[in-house]
Amino acid sequence: MGRVIFIGAGPGAADLITVRGAQRLASADVVLFDALTDPALRVYAPNARWIDVGKRGFGGVPHPARGAAYESTGQDTINALLVRHALDSDVVVRLKGGDPSVFGRLEEELEALADAGIDCEVVPGVTAAIAAAAETRRPLTRRGRGRSVSLTTAMTQEGRLQASRSADTEVFYMAGKQLGALARRLLAAGWPASTPVSVVSRAGWPDHVQSDHTVETLARATVLHAGRPTVVTVGAGAEPLVRRAEARRLVAATDGAAPGRPARVVADAAAASL
Ligand code: SAH
Repeated sequence: MGRVIFIGAGPGAADLITVRGAQRLASADVVLFDALTDPALRVYAPNARWIDVGKRGFGGVPHPARGAAYESTGQDTINALLVRHALDSDVVVRLKGGDPSVFGRLEEELEALADAGIDCEVVPGVTAAIAAAAETRRPLTRRGRGRSVSLTTAMTQEGRLQASRSADTEVFYMAGKQLGALARRLLAAGWPASTPVSVVSRAGWPDHVQSDHTVETLARATVLHAGRPTVVTVGAGAEPLVRRAEARRLVAATDGAAPGRPARVVADAAAASL
């Protein structure tokens, strides 16, 4: 009996996989891969058998007979394939886009393997939220103002759209097709209309696209990012740093606005809150 290694491929271009991920991939006899993984990763395991278990569409396509919670390549089928290949190969790699632990159905697959008594390992990867932050040079945490980050899916298991305000920065996955509805839900959840929102599609790929909005104008991003995997960052982590730097300069220049405090101290205080 073999073992299964879950590997996070990263969000896009093949070189965003970790060194450990690439090394483990090279040991694979069979690779079951997702739609969002880069075909260029095949160079790491040219002799392995590569099996596409990708779900069509980016969030999965509802199974016509079974409803929104089931995708075209059913999760049950993937679980069964994993077990079957692990029974007659040494190393089966389950290659997932981004990080396997983030909206990757890892839970079901680990359970299926545990039930069959098959040994597993999980190698982390760069999740889309992190790739978007890097791409746009917008740190997800900000000193003083952005102390918490939430990775959230806007879609419930029943296919309904939901939004909350549970962190200073909230990154929404799988909401690209419903940005207008997401904006309405965000307002209803208590986010002010002027809250900054950064939308990034295909983060980590050379053709990534980013656009700036507020909660109120978020629906305008729909056409620009249509048909591409998209993350929506709301709140502190969506703010461009340039504006903060400008604000610092302004505060320093208008020292008179804070009577009794020398300009340098005011500027430092503003910097400390970043
Ligand atoms: N495990 C993955 C997420 C899979 S769910 C990860 O850790 O990134 C699929 C969703 O992830 C997409 O609907 C989209 O919201 C997001 N996503 C995946 N790759 C992306 C990319 N390169 N750029 C932006 N969003 C991406």
